[in-house]
Amino acid sequence: MIVLKSREEIDRMRDAGGMVAEILEILRERVAPGVTTAELDRIAEAECIRRKAKPAFKGYGGFPFTICSSPNEQVVHGFANEQPLREGDILSIDFGVIYKGFYGDAAVTLPVGYIDRDKQHLLRVTEESLQKAIAAAVVGGRLSDISHAVQSHAEKEGFSVVREFVGHGIGRQLHEAPQIPNFGPAGQGPRLKAGMTLAIEPMINAGGPGVKILKDGWTAVTLDGKASAHFEHTVAVTEAGPEILTLG
Ligand code: MG
Repeated sequence: MIVLKSREEIDRMRDAGGMVAEILEILRERVAPGVTTAELDRIAEAECIRRKAKPAFKGYGGFPFTICSSPNEQVVHGFANEQPLREGDILSIDFGVIYKGFYGDAAVTLPVGYIDRDKQHLLRVTEESLQKAIAAAVVGGRLSDISHAVQSHAEKEGFSVVREFVGHGIGRQLHEAPQIPNFGPAGQGPRLKAGMTLAIEPMINAGGPGVKILKDGWTAVTLDGKASAHFEHTVAVTEAGPEILTLG
């Protein structure tokens, strides 16, 4: 069942989402060659504590970190570690909080110093795919319009869409119905209604779509070792159009 949120509930989700955006911005400013993902994880946790928010991922299904930090060929759910980031890497950071009973969830993929044109292209197209997906989150549309918006843009640019992980409803739970694949034909699935709150999150690969999970049981990497990018926002479907709740 898809839980619709009242205007007041969406206001509270905007508070949680705003914190997610602020903390991601703090992390963005810190990402540079030589910095470790363990440092970024500690900063994110401290910023949650300072705001009396709880990290959404730490402990979720046993996940051991505040942020999912996934460099280069890692797709999602990477573990923070003490290995310094290197010039030319890309780093996906997925981060969420729970605040006053509601979740916010967002992700960005950031360049570490100078990155080559292929990685710049991947980041740009993945972010554009998210923006096109958000634009499809309108009252009266269908859920798979969002999915189709991601796939059509990413594939037109020569990239491929990860199938194994999907976006999701969000609210009092981190993962609510519906699941939101990043692929498929438009015009299918539930009708979009005002009050739906959705975490839309394209995961786009530079090479083939295949992924596998490493022995840690969490880290998803591309099968071909090529780079992958991930952008995510928490979005409310409203009568006035889609509203991004994870803005600073
Ligand atoms: Mg999510």
